Amino acid sequence: MRVFKFGGASVKDASGVINLLSIVKKHLDQPLIIVVSAMAKSTNLLEEICDSCHENKRIDNLAIEKLINFHIEVASELFPHEHGIFTELKEYSNSLNKAVHEYSDRPYDFYYDQIVSYGEMLSTRIIHYYLLQEKIENRWFEAGDVIKTDANYREGKVDWERSVKAAKDLAIKNGGVLLTQGFLGRNEDGYTTTLGREGSDYTAAILAYVYNADEVVIWKDVPGMLNADPQYFSDAKKLNEISFKEAIELSYYGATVIHPKTLQPLKEKNLPLFVKSFVKMEDEGSKIGNNEKFDRLLPSYILKEKQVLISISPHDLSFVVEENLSHIFSVFSTFKVKIHLMQNSALNFSVCVDDDKRKIPKLIAALKEGYRVLFNKKLSLLTVRHYNEDLLEELIKGKEVLVEQKTRFTARFVYR
Ligand code: ASP
Ligand code: MG
Repeated sequence: MRVFKFGGASVKDASGVINLLSIVKKHLDQPLIIVVSAMAKSTNLLEEICDSCHENKRIDNLAIEKLINFHIEVASELFPHEHGIFTELKEYSNSLNKAVHEYSDRPYDFYYDQIVSYGEMLSTRIIHYYLLQEKIENRWFEAGDVIKTDANYREGKVDWERSVKAAKDLAIKNGGVLLTQGFLGRNEDGYTTTLGREGSDYTAAILAYVYNADEVVIWKDVPGMLNADPQYFSDAKKLNEISFKEAIELSYYGATVIHPKTLQPLKEKNLPLFVKSFVKMEDEGSKIGNNEKFDRLLPSYILKEKQVLISISPHDLSFVVEENLSHIFSVFSTFKVKIHLMQNSALNFSVCVDDDKRKIPKLIAALKEGYRVLFNKKLSLLTVRHYNEDLLEELIKGKEVLVEQKTRFTARFVYR
């Protein structure tokens, strides 16, 4: 069995969906599970809807209309004749309008998951009907029927035991095609949870794990896993083959090709992951597996922008000791702020984190209750794996470096 994942960029419009069909058609020799994200930037739009509806208590009808109309437009290109999908899209529009009101007094994270999940529902319904129209029998199911999570909204933690059992209940027939949403799960109360932004890769890995698939393919708008983001580095090169360990390191440091949680379940069962170009489907792409032989062939560069460096120190100029640290970490955990880099000296503890406009002000306010807190915004965090000194010199030329850290294989800089 194979698991294919198509991200929002691969299904950003009708021609993306048509392309998905041509890829699927070439892979019907084995059972197939297709995982699809929300189309184009729908998730961002839904986040905006959440913000205005929950925070400002103002229903953003325009944005809801924009979202639905976008899907109607895509569907109009795919379904030239009258089709049930159009009624269904209307129904989704009504239920979304209802949901933004109904849950508006519930906590934000809960609200977010109930609303943002519409993106994947809309995309998979369209694709389900489109594949049927093109004579590809397929069974659509709600990801939450198989992927069971705890009630940690926006970052649902998978309950593997329940998910494995649910997968058995929804067994796949030989030769069948199953289609489901990325990013979504369900908790024991029956509510939708999401797995964290860009979580659809993780969905593919979870399904591969619970169904003992043979491989996962992530179809992307790049030729494979690159050693740098071409947006920032002009001569990005493809990593033809790397190990799970190396890929886990890269995604931990912020390489965005693969969601960081994706690799663990695959590594555990030794299921290879391929990253391939959805426009050049015959090309090799990248393979991530057990082979560590090629891990050090090329240096990799990972740049994170919009970073904030927060320096925390006790008011009385005492040392930063274990008790302080354990308290500081608990504050970060309370506000669900992920630490990208940390460094401490006698009197101060510094961390580099994403400058999240929602979380950071609250985090800083909470830290200020016990410590002196200073921060620097608009910073970049650069990580270089398998570096050499000449490379580093070139990279940080002309930059004001605030933090520098080096281990044997990894060099990191926070700079402006
Ligand atoms: N649609 C979700 C997001 O944009 C999940 C994904 O694309 O993987 O974050
Ligand atoms: Mg997406």
